[in-house]
Amino acid sequence: MSAATTTTNVDPKIIDGRIISADIKKDIKIQVEKLIAQGKRAPCLVVILVGDRPDSHTYVRNKKKTASDLGFESIDCLLPGTTTQQEVIDIVKKYNQDEAVDGILVQLPLPSHINEASVLNEIDISKDVDGFNPINIGSLGMRGRNATFQPCTPRGCIEMLDRSGVEIAGKKAVVLGRSNIVGLPVALMLMNRDATVTICHSKTPDIPSQVKQADIVIAAIGQARFVKKEWIKEGAVVIDVGMNSVDGKLCGDVDYVNVKEVASKITPVPGGVGPMTIVMLLSNTLESSKKRQNYYLSIYISIMTHTTFSSSSNQKWDQEIVDIADYVLNYKPTTDESFSTAKATLFDAIGCGLLALKYKECTKLMGPTVEGTVVPNGCHVPGTDYVLDPVQAAFNIGCMNRWLDFNDTWLGREWGHPSDNLASILAVAEYKSRENIKVGLPPLTMNDVLVALIKAYEIQGVLALENSFNRVGLDHVVLVKVASTAVVAQLLGGTRDQVLNAVSNAWVDGQSLRTYRHFPNTGSRKSWAAGDAASRAVHLSLFALKGEMGYPTALSAKIWGFYDVHFKGNTFKFQRPYGSYVMENVLFKVSYPAEYHAQTAVECSIRLHPLYKQKGGVDAIEKIVITTHESAIRIIDKKGPLNNPADRDHCIQYMSAIGMIYGDLNADHYEDKVAIGDTSIDQLRDKMVCVENTQYSADYLDPEKRSIANRIQIFFKDGTTSDDVEVEYPIGHRRRRQEALPLIESKFFNALKDSPVPQQSLSAIQDLFKTTDKFNQTSVLDFVNLFKC
Ligand code: NAP
Repeated sequence: MSAATTTTNVDPKIIDGRIISADIKKDIKIQVEKLIAQGKRAPCLVVILVGDRPDSHTYVRNKKKTASDLGFESIDCLLPGTTTQQEVIDIVKKYNQDEAVDGILVQLPLPSHINEASVLNEIDISKDVDGFNPINIGSLGMRGRNATFQPCTPRGCIEMLDRSGVEIAGKKAVVLGRSNIVGLPVALMLMNRDATVTICHSKTPDIPSQVKQADIVIAAIGQARFVKKEWIKEGAVVIDVGMNSVDGKLCGDVDYVNVKEVASKITPVPGGVGPMTIVMLLSNTLESSKKRQNYYLSIYISIMTHTTFSSSSNQKWDQEIVDIADYVLNYKPTTDESFSTAKATLFDAIGCGLLALKYKECTKLMGPTVEGTVVPNGCHVPGTDYVLDPVQAAFNIGCMNRWLDFNDTWLGREWGHPSDNLASILAVAEYKSRENIKVGLPPLTMNDVLVALIKAYEIQGVLALENSFNRVGLDHVVLVKVASTAVVAQLLGGTRDQVLNAVSNAWVDGQSLRTYRHFPNTGSRKSWAAGDAASRAVHLSLFALKGEMGYPTALSAKIWGFYDVHFKGNTFKFQRPYGSYVMENVLFKVSYPAEYHAQTAVECSIRLHPLYKQKGGVDAIEKIVITTHESAIRIIDKKGPLNNPADRDHCIQYMSAIGMIYGDLNADHYEDKVAIGDTSIDQLRDKMVCVENTQYSADYLDPEKRSIANRIQIFFKDGTTSDDVEVEYPIGHRRRRQEALPLIESKFFNALKDSPVPQQSLSAIQDLFKTTDKFNQTSVLDFVNLFKC
């Protein structure tokens, strides 16, 4: 089986040093390229190795290879074991003077006739990329001081905690080991990050009781499987630095197999801290090189000469942006309901997308920007043979999924369709999986996709609850852009800074006007606007991952920020913190492809269809009263001519008339052949009046109810009336979820059977639809393959 088709389960407990270090390497490589593009030289690292210890030679060879892979210059200074201390010091001094050298590393241990401290103290502190100079170590422990370089293995440990979303501040940390290389510096660094730190060593009595109190355990003592399961507090995070050989096999200082059962996160050995040390060394060398070559100064000069305003790096970030970034980086959804609903939304959105492929108005917008382009290792668009870059793939998937306005919905002060975010998530998950495979890492799984979906729904939905973008004329796809940017920046492996930068750029963007949803401009842009937002999100995230800066007060900056420019100076309001509420409460459109505020109206009108027929149709009717809620009146209460399907599927009278006349509503009912061909539709519309029921409007906004009620009553010319038929909750509502699930399933499979997806994929898709664990563990690449044509 090829790597691309392997199904891999990534255990969320494992802090995988191979994945994290690969992400950092990619970032370093990009930064080296940028440095060179600025006309600077490549960073240069000198490694001095005395003697012929095989393990030291292997380590130096690995460093050299990684350095060269990432575009570094490296000089190996291999000296015989007989070299004197003074000769080594002279060589160090020579490289101290050499301006073309950015980092000097003396490989330890040195032969016994050489005093290590005497040699290490000679390394110029500005080139001490190993960070062992006493001034560097001392600075780690002093408040308000910054070490020029942090020692590599300890820095790797902290980086792993940060990138795994582990909060350090306020936590109790226990460090086992007090060596100058690992234990002492890592303890100082944890203290600097506001942890309360205990250091244990060989003379510490009762180590288990110390460890038992720890939220974070760092083990660096060189004793195989020393730390036992019983010592670990439930949910603690365990970083195992140890490297011990037992029966020829590498193991750590922690009894990994058993400790993993109680830890919330743990690093394996091998594949944990080990891969981090070399990348931290190269990261330090890169920093040294940038400073030595005045890189930051030249960037600063370039900003000052090309812009009116200086860099915003000293500003405090808007809390709204920080909350989004911290949520995508740290939150772990847990409820079964959120995962099962996410899976239903995913299939539902794909099914809607496949149905849309029948409409050439939609497909004419799809494909690559330039016809015939095939991107190597690109992303697939379900139901087509397109292989596109992730930005274009996100547009394509978003365009088809939203075209028929038949997938899920979220209603608050703003409305929208959170499944629009699937476009960016699916495209990026495939792209990231292919990137992972290139560097020997596993692809993402469908579980990763569901987690990203839950988070995107939450960001979009929580922002929509209390903030009305339509009232300032902006389209709700602004929320797709923001939510998608946040989650795909995280999926791509973005750091906290990169996610912040990406999200701020999404708010800075010019946002779409809602005009295409309203008279006199109603048009088909409403069907591709979400694809547009999703693709922009991918683009902005990729920029951020390349190191593009962000704008800390993108929302709140006076005069020039989003609030002042777009939001009439108001700030966002929030009803609840980010969690998994939106996914659990999302509304499915299972019955009719109708704008959501009209779903219950269509249900009422279909119930009235037999009476309508029995009474003799439109001619027998005096008037029809639709009792509804305020949002429906604002968006879909339309009189006069309806110009196209986009106009019709946003008119409550049109949709109700179709239900009454045909006893059904499907996508074809919006097409000209029905709308123009059947004159009774407009005659019925003329007889309809919409009135607001204030209780309906209140219940619509009540977080416990979130109803979307409509009531319809027909008044006949003969003086009789129909029942005043009322439906409060549409079938796709959380309160009618069980009723909806079989309908969602048949809606998806009907769309699938009638689509270009190869019929031989059907049973595998059915299998994934019906299983949970298997689906969750399926690689994204295997999943998208099933929908390939
Ligand atoms: P080290 O210099 O030998 O220091 C060991 C520390 O552990 C000392 O502070 C020692 O206490 C303490 N210790 C030893 N046995 C103990 C026991 N039974 N109970 C409590 N404390 C004990 O080792 P190191 O250089 O810090 O390395 C530690 C481990 O990390 C080794 O396995 C090494 O191979 C590994 N390592 C890995 C990487 C990497 O890249 N992953 C990098 C460096 C090191 P005293 O001070 O009282 O003697």
